[in-house]
Amino acid sequence: MKYDVIIIGAGPGGIFSAYELMKRRPGWKIGVFEGGTELEKRHCPIDGDKIKSCIRCKSCSIMSGFGGAGAFSDGKYNITNDFGGTLYAHIGRKKALELMRYVDQINLDHGGEGTKLYSTAGTDFKKICIQNKLRLLDASVRHLGTDINYIVLGNLYAEMKDHIDFHFNTLVDSIELLQKEEAEGEPAESSSAAFAESAEPAESSSDTSRCHASHCDTPRYRIHFEGGRADARYCIVSAGRSGSKWMEKVCRDLEIPTKSNRVDIGVRVELPAVVFSHLTDELYESKIVYRTEKFEDSVRTFCMNPNGIVVNENTNGIVTVNGHSFEDPSKKTENTNFALLVSKHFSEPFKDSNGYGESIARLSNMLGGGVIVQRFGDLARGRRSNPARISECTVQPTLQATPGDLSLVLPKRILDGIIEMIYALDKIAPGTANNDTLLYGVEVKFYNMEVSLDENLETNHPGLYVIGDGSGVTHSLSHASASGVYVAEIISEQE
Ligand SMILES: Cc1cc2nc3c(=O)[nH]c(=O)nc-3n(C[C@H](O)[C@H](O)[C@H](O)COP(=O)(O)OP(=O)(O)OC[C@H]3O[C@@H](n4cnc5c(N)ncnc54)[C@H](O)[C@@H]3O)c2cc1C
Repeated sequence: MKYDVIIIGAGPGGIFSAYELMKRRPGWKIGVFEGGTELEKRHCPIDGDKIKSCIRCKSCSIMSGFGGAGAFSDGKYNITNDFGGTLYAHIGRKKALELMRYVDQINLDHGGEGTKLYSTAGTDFKKICIQNKLRLLDASVRHLGTDINYIVLGNLYAEMKDHIDFHFNTLVDSIELLQKEEAEGEPAESSSAAFAESAEPAESSSDTSRCHASHCDTPRYRIHFEGGRADARYCIVSAGRSGSKWMEKVCRDLEIPTKSNRVDIGVRVELPAVVFSHLTDELYESKIVYRTEKFEDSVRTFCMNPNGIVVNENTNGIVTVNGHSFEDPSKKTENTNFALLVSKHFSEPFKDSNGYGESIARLSNMLGGGVIVQRFGDLARGRRSNPARISECTVQPTLQATPGDLSLVLPKRILDGIIEMIYALDKIAPGTANNDTLLYGVEVKFYNMEVSLDENLETNHPGLYVIGDGSGVTHSLSHASASGVYVAEIISEQE
């Protein structure tokens, strides 16, 4: 099978690349290869009854499939250069914001209309935060909510599926650079035949009529997957977080320079929604940063879910914690949750920041069989939480986790920073440092190593682009989506 453009990964980055290419180059043949399933087939087997915790499926439905890691996310599209990635460092601040707004409009046009856009502009909380040694970051936040986000994804797929070949359950194994002779010597039928033996292409058409002759006839890249292969002139890699290890291999194989990145480690806080309602009602998601007294580390709030639930997350077989919230009033809970994270950047000779985060998460999995939950009061007193203390708690946990002791898992420096920040937040949201505030651990934000890319997000191989979280450049829905549009714009302008 030959394509003008192959896209690896159908998360927000891949989806927005595909969508934009379809709009700009309707005559081109585009193939999207995704390791997970179609959106409607994505089901996590945890039902809270027969299956209570992660059973480590071959392909994690939470992280993989159409919609990527974003499919069951809270659908918070943060329109800002202050956090969510460093796309601006490659493409400029103005362009990055322009593309994030463009993505927002596409979401609105596909079912997101009527959802609320929150903004920090002109809020009094900035001053209140500064007075309490906290800093509120600037952003506009479109909150789609998990349910509307799902509808938007469904509508985008419906619009694309007849114009783009989506190949689900097709995990790409490797990317090969083709020599000129190899590319030209390969008759179209033979690669089509090779493809036909492969994992079934969900909506694939075998017709090559859309194929832009000059591109399909001179492919530069060949991808290999179980039972097949496909060639293309341009290749966009959007493998996200779940593809981080694979991305490292691709970079090693193709000699694409990379540099190690950071890891964020911390806990998810769950407390009565009223404690934070003055902030969440006005801002929905407030990103607040605190500098610790002793180490001057930055601790920040992350992924705030008013009236939401705490959930498990599985990254490469390690169970960590995350949060969701819903627009649908019937799904709202009495609690708000958010993460408190400490960023760790390592200097030479240590390069494996993700390995460090994984080891800490593994330790919590070893002690708790998964995620550990502890009352803040127990942590402050230096004792573990047990089932009796959790059941008497005034905050009802929304995730079934193992009561335990987070001080046996988190390094002292990180734990001290989190405790300091809880007391600092207590000044702007009294009740945060209550004994019954729940802390779930560990929450780890793994970042891919940063791939060396130019201002076009292109690697040292012409025509090979890396976008989204897999590039290490973005860490959010809006930045990943914007990077997809950006590369599609660039490729579509090529002759
Ligand atoms: C529970 C949860 C909640 C979140 N909430 C928010 C939020 O509210 N706001 C926000 O901004 N961000 C949120 N995020 C982060 C956000 O989802 C990601 O930043 C975003 O999805 C990144 O998009 P992406 O396309 O780069 O990668 P991903 O969404 O990770 O998609 C990558 C896709 O590539 C596929 N893939 C990987 N390797 C291969 C391969 N070798 N072959 C074929 N396919 C492959 C994967 O199966 C996956 O579907 C959340 C994440 C999670 C897990």
